[in-house]
Amino acid sequence: MARGDRGRRRGPRSRAPGSGLPGGGAPARFVTDPLSGDTAELRSIQPVAATKAYRCPGCNQEIAVGVGHVVVVPLGDPTARRHWHHACWSQRGRRRPGRPS
Ligand SMILES: [Zn+2]
Repeated sequence: MARGDRGRRRGPRSRAPGSGLPGGGAPARFVTDPLSGDTAELRSIQPVAATKAYRCPGCNQEIAVGVGHVVVVPLGDPTARRHWHHACWSQRGRRRPGRPS
């Protein structure tokens, strides 16, 4: 059998100009969610973008409006995302045995 495989052309314009600016946004970082054990995307929230208060699972205290923090978004269940203080996230590996009662 003869294979007529010459009809394929690959356009040189594989990237669209103007979209997907390099350096235009923070690159996604993938981490292991300490709560679910799933792979999650770590996003930084700038202070100006922190327009709601959230409960931090690291210290069980509130992240106030206007405080920059990080969000952990599980890839399998984005609705289960958690907001962490920067400090709590960086110390997530050390779990304190005692918790306030
Ligand atoms: Zn915290």
